[in-house]
Amino acid sequence: MTYHHLEPIIGLEIHVQLKTATKLFSSVDNHAEGAASNTLISAIDVGHPGTLPSLNREALRFAVRIGLALGCRINSPTYFDRKHYIYPDLPKGYQISQFDVPVAEDGVITIQIPEGPRTKAIIHIERAHLEEDAAKNVHRDGKTLVDFNRAGTPLVEIVTRPDFRTPNEAKIFLLELRRILRYLAVSDADMEKGHLRCDANVSLRPVDANGLPVADPYYPKTEVKNMNSFKAVERALLFEIDRQGTLWQQGNPPMVTTTRGWDAVGNKTDLQRTKEEAADYRFMREPDIPPTDLSTYIQEETGSRPELPQQRRERFQSEYTFSEQAAATLTDDPALADFTERVISELFAWLAANPDIDADENTVADRYRQPIGKLVATWIGTKLLGALTERSEDIRTTHVTPENMAELLNIIYQKTITAQQATHVLEAMLDDGASPAQVIESLGLTTISDTDALGAIID
Ligand code: MN
Repeated sequence: MTYHHLEPIIGLEIHVQLKTATKLFSSVDNHAEGAASNTLISAIDVGHPGTLPSLNREALRFAVRIGLALGCRINSPTYFDRKHYIYPDLPKGYQISQFDVPVAEDGVITIQIPEGPRTKAIIHIERAHLEEDAAKNVHRDGKTLVDFNRAGTPLVEIVTRPDFRTPNEAKIFLLELRRILRYLAVSDADMEKGHLRCDANVSLRPVDANGLPVADPYYPKTEVKNMNSFKAVERALLFEIDRQGTLWQQGNPPMVTTTRGWDAVGNKTDLQRTKEEAADYRFMREPDIPPTDLSTYIQEETGSRPELPQQRRERFQSEYTFSEQAAATLTDDPALADFTERVISELFAWLAANPDIDADENTVADRYRQPIGKLVATWIGTKLLGALTERSEDIRTTHVTPENMAELLNIIYQKTITAQQATHVLEAMLDDGASPAQVIESLGLTTISDTDALGAIID
């Protein structure tokens, strides 16, 4: 076959653990992290005969919320199906999932790509469906043990179309998806903890000199599994593109669909198996769950749609004059964005209350948004975040309250102390949550800027 070059075609399948109070089909506690093995389990979670699944409404609501945020159409009613396979982590022999009528279909997310052949990519979401998680196999001393605490945890599986052209695009999408899930408060979406698990399908497509696909090539995809971090996804895809590229160069392109596992230590993928076809799962309707009407959730979730990361980034730029970079940093975590906005509103309120400034709060915001924005970008976006990272803390665990941070910025703005002194004050605030006034007093730091007072001392 003649072709000009090979173009990577990448699609993602992402499993998201929902942080519902209870499991998908039982009333068992869904907070398995740190719990002793096999303590959070009921007969329903393992499908004992005579038990019936009872669908978790919170999980349905979360799935609808996710579908709407991804720009999907919500199917109502939606249907549940049995997906059959045999594995120790699935004692009932089938997973309750969704096959032909998932909760959500046909969405789209646009990502911005700072460096790459294209500056933005439109990623189509094929579907997002609800399903139960399996138990966890634990391999120890040559034996495999099974921990059922995870069995029945609600998952939303998100499947994209193969719209990614570089590993970097896939990583940027995953980071944005994690942000969206955190903004929606449906998952902690921590990849290292398995809340967000990503598989990738990758193949190389021969294209001609105009970038058009060469007619009728067969290029089976490889499914890559076992990538436990954002870095792993990028590295595994780079490896796989390289491996397949070599096969093409040798005139020996992949001819069958395969599943390969990422080996982070060896920095390579290993063949696991040739892929089952969908028919092998013998999908059939779940007879114990009736067609599920979602209209109430659609109505309520449409009426209370939270601001999404992209909207918040744009608002932070226009409302507070943050640079694109500062806006991205300050909105990366919704808790940090909330913290930042509370600090800013405190500062505007103080300025408005200052008798020297003859203006109401709106006028103050107009007049001072630029200096306040600069101050906040430096002291929260750079100094506070840097100190938190150094201490392995984050905005949720820190002693520093928005009120105290605002007070410190106010002091810095009034130039009562120097920037260097303010850095010491911030460190002390991080240590024990003291207020800036307390720290300044105990350190005897106050720089006197009042000229009358200074004059008196000089005299
Ligand atoms: Mn799945």
